[in-house]
Parts: sequence; structure tokens; C-alpha cells
Amino acid sequence: MKSHAKAVVIGGGVVGCSVLYHLAKAGWNDIMLIERSELTSGSSWHAAGGFHTLNGDPNVAKLQAYTVQLYKEIEELSGQSCSLHLTGGVMMADTPERMDFLRLAHAKGRYLGMDTELITPSEAKAMFPLMDETNFVGAMWDPVEGHLDPSGTTHAYAKAARKLGAEIVLRNRVVELTQEVDGTWNVVTEQGTVKADHVVNCGGLWAREIGRMVGVELPLLAMEHMYLLTEPMPEVEEFNKSTGREMIGVMDFKGEIYTRQERNGILLGTYEKACKPWSPVNTPWDFGHELLQPDIDRIAPSLEIGFKHFPGIEKAGIKQIINGPFTFALDGNPLVGPVQGLTNFWCACAVMAGFSQGGGVGLALSNWMVHGDPGFDVWGMDVARFGEWATLRYTNAKVRENYSRRFSIRFPNEELPAARPAQTTPLYDTMLANNAVMGDSWGLETPLWFAPKGAEPKDIVSFHRSNDFGPIGEEVRATREKVGVTEIANFAKYEVSGPAAEDFLNRLMTNRMPKTGRIVLTPMLNEFGRLIGDFTIAKAGEERFMIWSSSAAQKYHMRWFEKHLPKDGPRASQVRIHRFDQTLVGLSIAGPRSRDLLQKLVDVDISTKAFRFMDFREMAVGGAPCMVNRITYTGDLGYEIWMAPAYQRLVYKAIKDAGEEFGLVDFGMRALLSMRLEKNFPTWFRELRPIYGPFEGAMDRFVKLEKNDFIGREAAAREQAEGPKLRRVSFIVDAADADVMGDEPIWANVGSKDYGTVEMPHGYGAPRFDTDGKEVRGSRAAEGASAVRGIVDGDWRVVGWVTSGGYAHYVQKSMAQGYVPAALAGDESAGLFEIEILGSRRPARINVEPPFDPSGEKMRT
Ligand SMILES: Cc1cc2nc3c(=O)[nH]c(=O)nc-3n(C[C@H](O)[C@H](O)[C@H](O)COP(=O)(O)OP(=O)(O)OC[C@H]3O[C@@H](n4cnc5c(N)ncnc54)[C@H](O)[C@@H]3O)c2cc1C
Repeated sequence: MKSHAKAVVIGGGVVGCSVLYHLAKAGWNDIMLIERSELTSGSSWHAAGGFHTLNGDPNVAKLQAYTVQLYKEIEELSGQSCSLHLTGGVMMADTPERMDFLRLAHAKGRYLGMDTELITPSEAKAMFPLMDETNFVGAMWDPVEGHLDPSGTTHAYAKAARKLGAEIVLRNRVVELTQEVDGTWNVVTEQGTVKADHVVNCGGLWAREIGRMVGVELPLLAMEHMYLLTEPMPEVEEFNKSTGREMIGVMDFKGEIYTRQERNGILLGTYEKACKPWSPVNTPWDFGHELLQPDIDRIAPSLEIGFKHFPGIEKAGIKQIINGPFTFALDGNPLVGPVQGLTNFWCACAVMAGFSQGGGVGLALSNWMVHGDPGFDVWGMDVARFGEWATLRYTNAKVRENYSRRFSIRFPNEELPAARPAQTTPLYDTMLANNAVMGDSWGLETPLWFAPKGAEPKDIVSFHRSNDFGPIGEEVRATREKVGVTEIANFAKYEVSGPAAEDFLNRLMTNRMPKTGRIVLTPMLNEFGRLIGDFTIAKAGEERFMIWSSSAAQKYHMRWFEKHLPKDGPRASQVRIHRFDQTLVGLSIAGPRSRDLLQKLVDVDISTKAFRFMDFREMAVGGAPCMVNRITYTGDLGYEIWMAPAYQRLVYKAIKDAGEEFGLVDFGMRALLSMRLEKNFPTWFRELRPIYGPFEGAMDRFVKLEKNDFIGREAAAREQAEGPKLRRVSFIVDAADADVMGDEPIWANVGSKDYGTVEMPHGYGAPRFDTDGKEVRGSRAAEGASAVRGIVDGDWRVVGWVTSGGYAHYVQKSMAQGYVPAALAGDESAGLFEIEILGSRRPARINVEPPFDPSGEKMRT
């Protein structure tokens, strides 16, 4: 074993081998993988080997499609077969709600380049005759599904990596990790120490233990998972013979099962409600190529439904039940990327679908390590997306919830209950007493809306407008016409200080830094000129800046700030960054009477001239020391008031008491988001994401190319010179009783006009090969499929996608924001656009000026 490597990958499961292959392919050949036992010694060897491209996050779906495409490549390079069976598969809906869910997934597929089709239960049965189709109301067909040999696939990655110069060391456990002052890692193994510039944790079932070697508790947990294999079945053999095809894969949400052909029989797996964690605290190092004891009682309820839905399977004899552990993060997506607070320590773990995601994870991580950027929008699997609140016990509760809901619908207004409340502000009990319906905002309980007195404070979950519609309307109207107060503790807050603070921020941000006592809004870009942040910055003193941003991006942004801190030379240690998290909390008051209200609570003049729009001031509010921004996300006259938690109750009470005479109401996060819609304000992680440039995101006025050289300036200048390809726009939608939720396709009646090819950043070309290189989709179409995926319908084309939206209560319009080709972005003509909501295309019109206070007069007053 050599004593130095540019990178050491720990773990030889499918993910470690994929990371090794991609690093080697990117040109790093001084790399090694260290495996404690043989390759596939964690969960990889006993996987069911299924793969598919569908994922709730379009960007993760894109990486899954890449994974499937990759298998041909590694087979060719390694000479090792993956035994790929690209059969295609169906998702079965048993209720109208589930069919709505499939309609949404199918609509999303239109601009993702996916070839899904909505089909009838009988059409599904024709491809999987063991089902009783009368149990279902419909189905969605996806041609890019199938199964493979997990062990062969892992070895194919490994052999391909070796061919490109990578080294693999087996039967050698990594026992310790330490770091030198110069950043070099000492990878201490049973066979000696390797010095490495980079370390990658691909430890799978032991990823937590490897994290603990560097003081990090990774939020993942292994769960027991069972699937059964039947004896050979004559029905299967008969189907194969008569059609010349294999039976397809089937996902049955109601039964929480997946099933497919395996050899001459059937494989059937369950995501049972009564799920069970495995090794919840420590993973034993002596766990090897072992299986766990099957527990048929646990999966009995799923099997009962399964046998009813697929009576053909019930008759078969069970040959074997496999029970094995594999890991999950809180939301079921992987944990990938550099760990904040450490240097050159990378993660690629909690990959629960290694054979759908392993390739994409390897590609994104290797890009990140070699080029400094993952090259995709990987927020959905970024290790930075969870905060310190994701402790071992929190993770245990959330992973169990996620596993047991794997096949459940998550409605757009649905808040999940496990591990809550975690963090609360001092106002939590007060908000509950006010009949607040609370939501989880990055681990913090936050009021969403207030139920009327006497009504149960609870969401009725739905894809349609629900029981919050009326009360949110009341909150919005009262705020717009009088004054409202809301909690804003769920913002990220930072302080950047020191002699080089301003230079540092000028290098990171696209806008000029404000003068003392003033505020600016500014995006932040990566080197490729893509949006990686959107901030409100106040200059609080000569060398002190206060910064606010999206709560969920706190670790993501801290990682970026730390990476760009001046490390050497005269500027080193001249910048300090402090993240407040919940040590600073806030309240916002908004509406035409908000100044009158605030004036009663402060002893300074806050008239229009004395305290202007976008001013920042430190002042006592109701007797408590606070920082006050004259700005609000409602886009009205209003203020954000920031204080230490110890003062929050005092300030809230003062506001409530003083507000009585002005008709003050409490409003929640949903009313706030409704009000920002009618101002065309974007949100971080929906409208603004790393797949868009600042001009595409319509952030033009916050980008000052002529100021100093900031990160991403060159790319942004290019975007401006060439003109953005896409453009963020706001729509008014002629909706019925359901508003957009995000990710819906936007259609345009473009006729024969050519708007150029718009490369959709989510988009990918779905692979269309089977093991013989034939088109799989063609074979289903030949059977007379009733529906064909459409991105063209006469003169209509799918030209874009919705990022978010909802009902704008004050202007009483259903609104949506999204991206369309820039050439279409200014066209407000009626009849040009339609937005597909739950399978129905609704007329929509671009609204260039915000419908509420288009001149911005109210907020400047
Ligand atoms: C019953 C079952 C069915 C499944 N079905 C599917 C399916 O159909 N489709 C799908 O995509 N996925 C499926 N999975 C999940 C799939 O198995 C995992 O996604 C995948 O195996 C994760 O791979 P990994 O490389 O991250 O982890 P692992 O396979 O656990 O690999 C980690 C490796 O790291 C090594 N290691 C750990 N610590 C050290 C150390 N300190 N030093 C050296 N080496 C170390 C281990 O020995 C191990 O070989 C299934 C899992 C189970 C249990």
C-alpha cells in the first residue's frame, strides 16, 4: 500500500467505487479506495438491484437518469457485465388523490425530458398480468426503470477505476483520521498510515462511525429492509414465452410494495409502516456479509394488500426472504459534498438507492473535488442541508417517519409530525394559545397561519385550496389595510466584522455594500456566474455588517464564506463571521399603520425622512435593545425588528398592546408568502437556485458589474452581453380550486415561431436503450399505449416550468412564478400561455409589473 494519495475513498460499496471511478475519469490517478473487507461488504451485496429515474426533486432525478445511462459505459470499459434489465415500470394509483400525484409527476416529466405516460390499469396489467387491475384507478408508465446485478455493477465501477489508474486496497479498515496543520489528512489503517490531501466518506452502514472520527455526527440511520423471492412461476415463464419480454417493475403505493420479475419468479419488497432501525447508535465493525433474521409479521399487513392486488403472486411458493440494513438521511436523499467546518473532508453517504443514484453522486462529488463545483444543482442531496438540530435521536425519529411514508403522498400543505417540536422561540406557547398552526422551518417551529377561535388549528391536507384559505385571506387583508405582526426567527442571520469585512463582502456579493445605516439586497454567485445566495445586508458600523438570508441555507452559506475567508497575507484574520441561528430572533410588523404602531414603542423619530425605506438603526423597541430594518418581505410599509430571545416576549407584548388601536392582527408564514407573490418577489431555493444566472433570475438591478471584481463577475458579464436564455416571470393564472405548487409545466401557443432551443437546466435526455440497445419505449407504444408524453400539442409547446406560486389574497388572483425563454418573457398577451395544474391546462398571463403597489410607493412612504 502506498503512503500518499491525492484522495482516499473509504468504503468499497457501490457508492465508493463510483466515486473512485469518477475521480479517475476526471484525471486524478493518484487515488486509492480502502475497504475494510471485500468490495460490497455493506448493504450493496444484498440489494434488490432495482433502479428508476423518478425523484421528487427534479435535480436529483436528473442525476438518477445519468446513473442509468452510465451502466453501458462502465460495462464497456471494465468488461464486467452489470446484468442490466431495462424493463420499464409502472406506478399504480388506487385513489383519485394518488392519480393527482401521478399527474403531477407526469407533468413534471414533460420538461425533464422523461418519457412517462399515464395509462389505464388494464394497460398496466398487460405488462404485469399477475395483478388484479380492478384495485386501481390508473397508472404511470416509465420506460427508464429496471434492475441489475448489484455485485457485478459494483465490480464494474471498481474495474473501470483500476483501468484508469486508481488503486484499491482490500481487507484494511480505516481506524482513525487526523489532520495536520497544513491540512494533510492522516488516514490511519490496519496496514499503516496514508497521507492524503482529500478524504471521502463512502462508509455506507459505517458512515456515522467515520464521521465521528472527525467529530461530525452525520444525520443518517440504517433501517432493516425485507424483500422476498418466489419459486419459479409458470405464469411468468408463459408470459416471457408468449411476449418475448420480461415482466415489468410495479410500484404499488397502497400496499407499500414494489415487485418485478426475478429469474423465473417474482421479487417483492416492502416499505412497511412498522419499520425497524438497525444499530441505531453504533454499527458493529464485525458485521460482514450477513443477513438479518426475517420478520414476516412485520411485513404481513403489506403482504396482505399485496396479495390482494397481485393475486398471481400469492399462489407462488416463497423461496427466500432477504432482510438487510441500508442507510437513510432524514428526507431519504443522500448526503453529499464537503462538510462545513472541515477542509477537504467529503461525504457520499446515506445513498438509499445506490443503483439509481450512485453514478450521479459519484459524478457530482468528483466534479466538486476536482473543479470546485458539483456542476449540477445538488441542493437536494447536499450534506449541508441539515443543521445541528439533526441529532442522533432526531434523525432516528425522522428516518423512521420517512421510511414508513416512502410510498405515501406528501401534500403541498402537509407538515410532518416526527421529532417535533425541536427548536422553539420564546413565543411558541403564545402562538399556540393564539391558535397558530405551526410548521417546521429548518428545525424551528414557525407559525404558518392562525385558525379562527374555536376551530381546531390543523391543516386539512390537499392538492386543492384547503381550510387555511379563508383565514390566510383575513390575515392578508388586515395587514394590507391596517397592520400585522409575524415571527421571523426562521431567517438566517450573520454578522461579518473586522477591518477587511467590507472588502470580503464586496468580493462575494454582486451589489455594492451599503453606507453605514443603510441596507442593500444582493445576490451571491459562484465562479460560473450561477446564483448561490440572496442576501439582505445592513452596514451596522464602520467594520460591522448584519446579514439576513434563507434559514435552510445556513450551513451551505457558512461553508462558502469559510472557503473564501482571507487565509494568508495581511488580510488574514481581519474578517470574523458569526452565525446567530436562534441566538437572534425577530418580529416583523407590516401594513399602512405599522409606522404609527412602531412610533409608540420607540423614543426616536421614525418619520419617513428620519427613518427611510432601506434604513437600518439600532434602537430600543418597547424597552428592549433591538436592530430595526425598514424593509419587509410583504412589500408594504413595514419593519423587521431583531432582538435577543430573552427580549422577544417583551417586544411582542408591546407590539400587541400598542397595536390594538390600529386593528393589529397576527399573520403567519403563508400570508407572508402570499403577499410576496403579489409583489413578484422571488424566494431562495425556488426561483433562485444555482441553475440560474442573475439575469435569468431577473435580479439585474442588484448586479453591479462595474464595481470591484467579485466572484462570478466574468460569467455574469458574459450572461448580460449574450442576453439571458431564460427569464423569471410572474403569471396570473385562471385557476379553478387548485393553485400551482411548483414544478408544473408552462405551455405557450408559439405556432411556427422559433424561440431558439432553451436548455432547461433541470433537463436531461432520458436514456432509451435496453440491454440490446433497442428502444424500450417503442415496444410499449407498439402495444397500443393510449397516451403519449407531450411537449408539443398543435401550436402549443412546453416552454418552461413553474418554480412556486399560490393565491395572492389581496389582489385576489392565483399567481405563479417560473422560467420561460427570455424572448417570451415580456409578452403579456392573453391566450399565449397555459399552466398545467393537476392535469388541466389553465390560461395564464405574464404580469410584468407586480399587481400590488407596482410603483413601490407604499413601501417607500
Ligand atoms: C434488502 C435491501 C434491498 C435493497 N434494494 C435496493 C434496490 O433495489 N435498488 C437500490 O438502488 N438500492 C437498494 N438497496 C440499497 C443499496 O443497497 C444501497 O443504496 C447501497 O448499497 C449503498 O451503497 P454504499 O456504497 O453507500 O454503502 P455500503 O454498501 O454499505 O458500502 C460501504 C462500504 O464501506 C466499507 N467501510 C465502512 N467503514 C470502513 C472503514 N472504516 N474502513 C474501510 N472500509 C469501510 C464497508 O465495509 C462497505 O463495504 C437495498 C438495500 C437492502 C438492504
